[in-house]
Amino acid sequence: MSWSPLHLPSYIAGQPVATGRTLEVHYPWDGSLTGSAALIGPEHLDQAITAALGFPKEALTRRDRHDILRKAAALLASRRDEFAALITRETGLAIREAKYETTRSSDVLEFAAMEALRDDGRIFSCDITPNGRSRKIFTSRYPVQLVAAITPFNHPLNQVVHKLAPAIAAGAPVLLKPSDRTPLTALKFAEVLYEAGLPGPMLSLFLGDIGGIVTPMITDDRVEIVTFTGSVEIGKNIARTCGYKRLCLELGGNSPLIVLNDADPDLAAKLAAEGSFRNSGQRCTAVKRILVQDGILEAFTERFVALTREQYGCGDPEDPATMVGTVVHEPSAMELQRRVEAAVGMGAKILHGGGRRGALLEPTIIADVPRDAEMVALESFGPLAPILPIRDLDDAIRYYNSGPFGLSGGIVTNDLSLALKACKELKAGTTNVNEVPGYRLELTPFGGTRDSGLGVKEGVIEAIKFFTHEKTWSLPW
Ligand code: NAD
Repeated sequence: MSWSPLHLPSYIAGQPVATGRTLEVHYPWDGSLTGSAALIGPEHLDQAITAALGFPKEALTRRDRHDILRKAAALLASRRDEFAALITRETGLAIREAKYETTRSSDVLEFAAMEALRDDGRIFSCDITPNGRSRKIFTSRYPVQLVAAITPFNHPLNQVVHKLAPAIAAGAPVLLKPSDRTPLTALKFAEVLYEAGLPGPMLSLFLGDIGGIVTPMITDDRVEIVTFTGSVEIGKNIARTCGYKRLCLELGGNSPLIVLNDADPDLAAKLAAEGSFRNSGQRCTAVKRILVQDGILEAFTERFVALTREQYGCGDPEDPATMVGTVVHEPSAMELQRRVEAAVGMGAKILHGGGRRGALLEPTIIADVPRDAEMVALESFGPLAPILPIRDLDDAIRYYNSGPFGLSGGIVTNDLSLALKACKELKAGTTNVNEVPGYRLELTPFGGTRDSGLGVKEGVIEAIKFFTHEKTWSLPW
């Protein structure tokens, strides 16, 4: 497909800005130019902050915020193909994945619009204790002064929408720095929001150097909260840097899919393939370790390999038939391949895939992976499906809980007591039974603990709470 490179400005308080310095984005599939984004200078950051603080955000009623979000959802729906094509050109993700991402983002906008209309106040009667009085205590929420948000590459649109839509619903202004690898999708989405009626000062979305722009942004005293989605290393670095601020960190994962002896092997194979290979395995909740009980190991493995061979073809990301596109860039594919080879050196066997061409890494199934192989001890952000034998559920839970991550897990079983045990005992933010670890609604609470995050949740409802402060006030009654 022919492509005309996009050259976009950054946006400061709704106005396009450029400094002459730009950041180029290349298509991971063939290295061609996808476009460029303008980098800002320190004076622009200051303008963004001043404009946000000077804007009378109380003027935006709940109805206004709802209308902006609904209109943005409609605009995004009408430009779905354009956004999907751009996501593919920035990431190399298969076009079917890119289209799917746009529908998820529409859900986020619709849910945020819905929540913008919902009153969040509570009322407490004070005459409920022996010392009580004839009063009532009321609560109400008001938006934080200013949010700084930083997003990763793996869902270039949806990660940005998950920061911006709840903030708009809450009425909080945002400064957002998207991933340097996928800035164009984010900048195009900012244009959609302005077109939908978002006042410029409520959003500045820009690219800039870490030292000159991003660190000053998160340490600025006028920024009240920081919300970051990305890797563990950078997340912990941000926690150390940003000081006395409310913080949301949505970090890496290393999610297990536990397959017990009584599981339906066809369902287990389908969930293993979907969990491991969707989005080229680049989801924080992707299946990163398939823990299979001895009694079903053979039947599961046979079906999983056959299903992958038949249905999970990789190749040209723009071909609608392609299931698995590239990973984000060639160095990432090379590092994943190195981890596979290291596991093979420790006794693992490649059952399917293993090949690489540039940034395209084949969906790869590897059996007999030792528990201490780097490929499974670290988060391997790509389409790798390591199979590890387990004795029983206790063994799987002990193994998962002994590692540092705490994001999500899935279990395949028809035994309710074992399913409930996994839900209770896995140290993870989410556990899904007979589903992939990543299954969620964009509305519901989402997020991890331990190295996967601080336990502060996202998902539209929780994010709106995060972007607001709660006040109480009382009256005689
Ligand atoms: P990354 O940590 O490399 O980058 C994330 C963002 O941080 C980018 O915008 C980057 O430019 C910025 N950044 C880099 N250095 C920085 C610094 N010193 N200070 C401030 N910002 C800095 O992550 P990535 O490679 O873009 O994304 C993949 C990672 O994100 C994976 O680990 C994945 O699991 C995680 N992730 C987590 C969730 C979740 O909800 N838990 C969701 C998606 C992705």
